[in-house]
Amino acid sequence: MDPTQKIAKNLERFAQAIAAHDRENPTHHSWGIGLAPFDIERLGLEEGEQILPGIVIQADGGVTGNFRVLCDGDHDQELEEAEEEVVEAVSTQALPAIQPTPGRFGDE
Ligand SMILES: [Zn+2]
Repeated sequence: MDPTQKIAKNLERFAQAIAAHDRENPTHHSWGIGLAPFDIERLGLEEGEQILPGIVIQADGGVTGNFRVLCDGDHDQELEEAEEEVVEAVSTQALPAIQPTPGRFGDE
């Protein structure tokens, strides 16, 4: 997956999570997506960046690899906080191994 596709995929997940949250909590107003600072960086996002209409990226102390829907409503953290996985933006493609070249010193 190229980086543009990963960003699109994450935006899709953010949008879906917000839609689900708003559906379950019609009195809440969601305004952001909470990400660990590490994830903001590796996804190539910026804190405060508006990624969807009315939705900004916010650094939080949450778990790396997941995101949180941020809203102005109250949640029972234990029961309702839904964390979603973000798509890995870092390539996990293996590099070809460098083969050691056999050889020795001296000439006996
Ligand atoms: Zn809420």
